[in-house]
Amino acid sequence: MTVREGSCRCGNVRFRVAGEPLRVGICHCTDCRRESGSAFAFFGIWPASAFEGHGETVDYAERRFCPACGSRLFSLNDEEAEIKLGSLTDAPSGLAPSYELWTKRRETWLAALPGTEQFDEDRVSPPA
Ligand SMILES: [Zn+2]
Ligand SMILES: [Zn+2]
Repeated sequence: MTVREGSCRCGNVRFRVAGEPLRVGICHCTDCRRESGSAFAFFGIWPASAFEGHGETVDYAERRFCPACGSRLFSLNDEEAEIKLGSLTDAPSGLAPSYELWTKRRETWLAALPGTEQFDEDRVSPPA
């Protein structure tokens, strides 16, 4: 089984995820922009059971980061672990997004990634 390792910039927090992600995406929303100080967030979702982490983190709005170096790392709940893929050790990660969120906030100089599902805002299930 593939195991990917990651860490914050200073190395106080380390984690690993086992197996392939359930899905990989990019988000252009204003929260992701502010948190990252960049144009978008690149993330992957794994089942919570695939995640193992070590080291102290603090959270804001359920998004965990390293208190020493400020690197954004992951969000955890009972079902899923959302990993900020820039924190993986391997660069490039070998993972590619299948969808984009909040495309209405995408920088005008960025084009839609070919072959990805596009959402104006959050990912939604089709209406019943
Ligand atoms: Zn750190
Ligand atoms: Zn976002």
